[in-house]
Amino acid sequence: MSIRSLRSAHIAIVVVSLAATSAGQQAPVGYDDTPMQPNGKWHIHDGKRPQPAIVAPGPANVSPVPAPADAIVLVGAGGDLSAWQMTDGSPATWAMKSGMLETGKGIIRTKAQFTDFQLHVEFATPSEVKGDSQGRGNSGVFLLGKFEIQVLDSYRNPTYPDGQAAAMYGQYPPLVNASRPPGEWQTYDIAFTAPRFTQAGTLDKPAVVTVLHNGVLVQNAKAFWGPTAHKKIDPYTPDTAKGPIALQDHGNPVRYRNVWIRSLKDDN
Ligand code: MG
Repeated sequence: MSIRSLRSAHIAIVVVSLAATSAGQQAPVGYDDTPMQPNGKWHIHDGKRPQPAIVAPGPANVSPVPAPADAIVLVGAGGDLSAWQMTDGSPATWAMKSGMLETGKGIIRTKAQFTDFQLHVEFATPSEVKGDSQGRGNSGVFLLGKFEIQVLDSYRNPTYPDGQAAAMYGQYPPLVNASRPPGEWQTYDIAFTAPRFTQAGTLDKPAVVTVLHNGVLVQNAKAFWGPTAHKKIDPYTPDTAKGPIALQDHGNPVRYRNVWIRSLKDDN
């Protein structure tokens, strides 16, 4: 790099810093010391990856989306926690109040196991904003207990794009940021196809997910590179072919209500 281009690069950095300061914003939160993702475009949790465009969803639902007749209700108005357990198999200890489930200590997961399904989730991050980036309203919906769709308060809360709300955590940001303000009820509608393995135990087809966030398409039949991890991507193993739905405890209070699932047959 010539002295001249060095100087212009320096000026550009100063201009960017001034712009960030004048807007009162933090520098992007993310990592550049993590492995590259398999397609070689970005680091895992890359803070320089473009932020998804913000799209205001339609008005918040005034009432939960009713479960269809063939759905299994996982969190319902009756306040029943019997579908859930802790990861060691002991009874679920999260608080259920008036049909709303509040995150507690430890991950909870369904007793039932699933493969392909449609899943509806309603969640709300706290109306009183505390923390920032990954420390604000962080929870997560783990499909088969392995593949996370991130839950986060992503309303005016910059973080690394592959870790914001509705991201396939550590892999793909949502197509757009359709988050509602803190405290408002939000929806995920998820269609999931489990990974398939050969008899020899090698991956045949990866897990594929479609996600609507507040009715807005944010993941469109995207394949997971592997099970979710922090600062890395785990390899596929045959035990990821089926599993429970799990909800993450990340130390932030998040509420869930009206969670239901419809198992899909693979014989069409
Ligand atoms: Mg999370």
